Amino acid sequence: MDEKAFRAAMTRIFGENGMTRYLNYEKTEKYARLTERMLSENEKYNLTAITDPAEVALLHYADCLTVAAHLPKKAKVIDVGTGAGFPALPLAISREDLSVLAVDATEKRVRYVEETARMLGLTNLTAQVLRAESGAKDPALRESFDVACARGVAPLRVLCEYCLPYVRVGGIFIAMKGQGAPSEVAQAKRAIAMLGGKLREICPAPLSDGGKKVEHTLVIIDKIARTNALYPRENAQIVKKPL
Ligand code: SAH
Repeated sequence: MDEKAFRAAMTRIFGENGMTRYLNYEKTEKYARLTERMLSENEKYNLTAITDPAEVALLHYADCLTVAAHLPKKAKVIDVGTGAGFPALPLAISREDLSVLAVDATEKRVRYVEETARMLGLTNLTAQVLRAESGAKDPALRESFDVACARGVAPLRVLCEYCLPYVRVGGIFIAMKGQGAPSEVAQAKRAIAMLGGKLREICPAPLSDGGKKVEHTLVIIDKIARTNALYPRENAQIVKKPL
């Protein structure tokens, strides 16, 4: 990887998208090391389809940081279905006040995220092999997070059952979605209400790098009531009979 070109792309993209507060010399260094590692380990772990460093900066790092502005100071955050560590790793790098738990059902990706966090000295990120629907039954995890977030894991009505049980009453669930967000929200209306949620807003989160434009959307759901112990159900039911 051309590190100089990568640093220049980070500065340009974060500047253009109003994100310079998430970058300084030390953080840029961490992002460079993360990118080197992700791209060199990609074959082994099947981490990302995005391999151009400037695209990684835009579509992974800046994209994940659209969530950061919505997170209260020192929030306890769970990233459900973190994959290669998104949004968990950028959140932990750029917001040192947060404490982030990254979970995924795939052991090798979790080991990769864990090892990466150690290599980058991120003491505010831990990773755990966990199926979303099983973890939420664990009293140590259930309704114990200020924020649950997820990107690219499941349609919203399924994702609500994976994520809302982790959020404490008064906390929020942020789903990172594309342009289809309004129709996903319409389909998830019942699930949101049944799980103790209330839609706060569908928040456009556009990104650009020069002529390249990306229309992403954050769906922000408030947790207003406790989730009934019936949920989450077994995964087969969640997926086949979404609420
Ligand atoms: N959030 C990452 C990865 C998306 S790919 C990103 O945006 O790049 C979806 C990931 O969700 C996969 O790694 C898959 O293992 C995980 N996943 C899907 N269903 C899950 C479940 N029920 N519990 C835990 N992880 C799940």
